[in-house]
Amino acid sequence: MDEREAALRQAHGHSVRWLASLSDRPVPARAPVDEIVRALGAELPDAPSTPADVVDLLATACEPGLTAFPGGRFYGFVVGGTEPAALAADWLVSAWDQNCVMRAVSPAYTAVEEIAGAWLLDLLGLPPACAVGFTTGATMANFTCLTAARDTVLRSAGWNVAHDGLTGGPPVRVIAGQDRHMAIDLALRYLGLGRPELVPADGQGRIDPEALRRTLTSSAPGTGEGRGPTIVILQAGDIHSGAFDSFPETVRSAREAGAWVHVDGAFGLWAAASPAHAHLTEGCAQADSWATDAHKTLNVPYDCGLAIVRDPSALRSAMGLRGEYLIQHEHGDPVDKVPELSRRGRAFTVWAALRSLGRSGVADLVDRLCRHARTFATGIRAIDGATVLNDVVFTQVCAEFGDDERTDRVLDRLLAEGTAWISGSTWHGRRVMRISVSNWSTTDEDVARTLSAIRRAAS
Ligand SMILES: *Cc1c(COP(=O)(O)O)cnc(C)c1O
Repeated sequence: MDEREAALRQAHGHSVRWLASLSDRPVPARAPVDEIVRALGAELPDAPSTPADVVDLLATACEPGLTAFPGGRFYGFVVGGTEPAALAADWLVSAWDQNCVMRAVSPAYTAVEEIAGAWLLDLLGLPPACAVGFTTGATMANFTCLTAARDTVLRSAGWNVAHDGLTGGPPVRVIAGQDRHMAIDLALRYLGLGRPELVPADGQGRIDPEALRRTLTSSAPGTGEGRGPTIVILQAGDIHSGAFDSFPETVRSAREAGAWVHVDGAFGLWAAASPAHAHLTEGCAQADSWATDAHKTLNVPYDCGLAIVRDPSALRSAMGLRGEYLIQHEHGDPVDKVPELSRRGRAFTVWAALRSLGRSGVADLVDRLCRHARTFATGIRAIDGATVLNDVVFTQVCAEFGDDERTDRVLDRLLAEGTAWISGSTWHGRRVMRISVSNWSTTDEDVARTLSAIRRAAS
């Protein structure tokens, strides 16, 4: 057995033991950072070590500091697990170590990216001619789509931002809902577009269609001008409530105003893949671009986001490049759809997850996550003094336990007990318990065990 195989065998053994431990280990990490540093040793050794020993040390020393993110009882943030076929494919991605920049040099990657892209558009109910770029996550997917948006609306106003930059060009008006995800603000910051103009949202976080229409027909603050280059950002899946903007009306008024319409659907866009939940995304397919994650609802390993743009040439002119030393295809290469040059073969894991689940499996996955969320809501409503604050339309549940202090106490006790991992948040000025059901492996039993733990923490 050579050194490489010995190291891989170590990694395989540790991985299998880790995955097997998920159903019963406490969900929170047991050891703090400094303990892990001590176990690893902070000094860089002078002498080499054998790869298998290094892997063994890494896995053994880190184990107490790992959170059971891929297990069935992690409900913090919006975090998917690792669907088995996607996880195993991810090992191949590392072993194959393909540079996925160019069609001519990575035909296998390009083929898989093209097939996975077409399957995604089909499942998400989006036009088949859209371009699909595989990014690190939804933050970068939003950034990628909004770059195409910025460049296109400025080009329509006679300004070439790629050539001339933003300085001296017409102002770009960017309009978003009050309850957009902060990733939108980050993307706009990277793009030099500043903060978005905010439109009020309703109690569930849905942008107010009438207020959006009024904003679009009024002039931008401080400009006194009418219509200029405009981008409207909508949302499929609010991080607290799971709510979806009302797309038929909002997309129509944005279109009438000549705006580029972008949708942040990091976890919510997947509703379209389930016949039982597709109504939530009705009208969404009329937008110009969409950002979503594969590492959330689809449950591929980190990291994988998807930037989808209706007009492939808009994405290519925003992200494409020419290099004398590259071997480039006239119809574009994988690199022409994303910000990075060298990068990981992310589409391999997406293909594996989709091929393994099939159309019905993806729909079942979405339906199961939503069903678990409804079970959580029902169970929490039955607890004395507890209130579910959102309409549970998708995978998110927000609850409070009488007052902020008690809500925080319940959260602290729950985390200390370790059956599940659920985080708090502040929503509409009150402390809430925020449950996000995003893991394929969550079972009815996991939900029941977690509800018992919540009841204990609240008693
Ligand atoms: C998670 C999330 C993002 C950011 O996605 P990353 O993959 O973490 O970069 C953006 N928008 C929404 C609605 C999200 O839930």
